[in-house]
Amino acid sequence: MSLRPEGISLLWPTVPLYVMEGPVPGPTALIQAGIHGDEIAGVHALQELLEEGRRPAAGRLLVVPVMNPAAYRARTRTAPGGLDLNRCFPGDPDAEAPESRLAAAFMALVRDEAPALVATLHESKERYDPEVTPSFGQTLVYGVEPCPGLLASVVDGLNEAPGDAAERWETLYYPVATSSTEVIVDAMGCIGTCVETWMGFDEPRRIAMHKEVVQRLLDGIGVGLV
Ligand SMILES: [Zn+2]
Repeated sequence: MSLRPEGISLLWPTVPLYVMEGPVPGPTALIQAGIHGDEIAGVHALQELLEEGRRPAAGRLLVVPVMNPAAYRARTRTAPGGLDLNRCFPGDPDAEAPESRLAAAFMALVRDEAPALVATLHESKERYDPEVTPSFGQTLVYGVEPCPGLLASVVDGLNEAPGDAAERWETLYYPVATSSTEVIVDAMGCIGTCVETWMGFDEPRRIAMHKEVVQRLLDGIGVGLV
């Protein structure tokens, strides 16, 4: 196990990893966005949090704002001609496909850091409807039963504020065998979730939602964000 030093390092030539340490010991949280290049609100939420100088109150916070730069540049789910990075886990460092090598680099980071929480920020074109599969916006998705209590409490907190009924959040069990979240939770026993906003809202609102969810997840796991 080798912890990354505080500061910025590279997981990949164009994938910076931000490592921040809080003033007191605590758990480690790893937040990642942009694994699908057309789901931009999470990317911009993490970039805004970094620009605001937000830092963990305790423990360690690791942030990867753009996990799949080639897909993000194209604003498409996958890089042009590429694989779905979120179906390439745990990856293979010797594979020909760059997505498989990038997934392996991320898994090595996870094994080194043993985070208590891994969250990946996504977006969905479909408003969540229990009758429609798949539909995700807005949900905290988990792939290994039972639903972590942290996710249920974050959803409860998000739904406390009165507002647009379409902003209601749910937890959703939706396992995907080769997704980053499920492979990491299976390997590490940590809490993992995909945060899914609904693209029916305008971009600033979706960014604000992602920032609020990240804050609540980090508060709930004991890392915080100040
Ligand atoms: Zn996605």
